Amino acid sequence: MPRPIEALIDKHALQHNIALLREKAGKRFMWSVVKADAYGHGLHGLLDIFKLTDGLALLDVDEAVAVRNLGWKKPVLLIEGFFTYDDLNKVDRYGIDTLIHSDWQIEDLKKFNFKNKARVHIKLNSGMNRLGFLPARAKTVKEELEKIPMVEVVDFVTHFANSELTYPADGKLPVSGQLNNLVSLEELPCAKCFSNSGAILWHPEAADGAVRAGIALYGVSPDGNKTSEELGLTSVMTLRAGI
Ligand SMILES: *Cc1c(COP(=O)(O)O)cnc(C)c1O
Repeated sequence: MPRPIEALIDKHALQHNIALLREKAGKRFMWSVVKADAYGHGLHGLLDIFKLTDGLALLDVDEAVAVRNLGWKKPVLLIEGFFTYDDLNKVDRYGIDTLIHSDWQIEDLKKFNFKNKARVHIKLNSGMNRLGFLPARAKTVKEELEKIPMVEVVDFVTHFANSELTYPADGKLPVSGQLNNLVSLEELPCAKCFSNSGAILWHPEAADGAVRAGIALYGVSPDGNKTSEELGLTSVMTLRAGI
């Protein structure tokens, strides 16, 4: 007898949350962030609903290949970029977008013999200090990438360290301050992809270009001081157990 516990997944709830985020994001390109098997909800069972958005953003190149094999035709993006030179074989063969955050990746792109156009997104560090080039390098990195045959630069991506509605008094920079770190982009002709869930909901000042919706898709509030209900989000997962 299995443990009397089950996780129920509500596709209509996902559909509802997508519609709500769409309303906020307008006509902008919307990536569904589906890392960690769609935040634990099971990516494959939800693919038909994610088609209501414009692309899938995930971590592992084999997960990207798997969705291609399941018939996913829209863009699919490696949000931490490729991890090894060999990953580029799959990136090329399956038409997978990749993030570029480090110089070694640029060197790998130069060496690889692409048969198809490779769509790359330049990751900039706006204060998270996890991945990405310093904004001061945005122009030179873009120019270096544009010189590589078959490589197409799609946009600049950043992930805010903090995009909550209410800022805890702990010295974290608000979104406006994180955007100030990116002033070097102002004179660069390139699209942008800055907003995660919190920024889509609360920071129209970051609303420029594509968006990456994660936690809110699943009906979870990105801010501990606001409930999902207050935001109109519906939980996609319900956990039920016998007592
Ligand atoms: C997880 C992640 C997201 C989604 O963030 P949410 O706050 O869950 O909306 C967006 N971009 C990157 C790079 C991520 O790692």
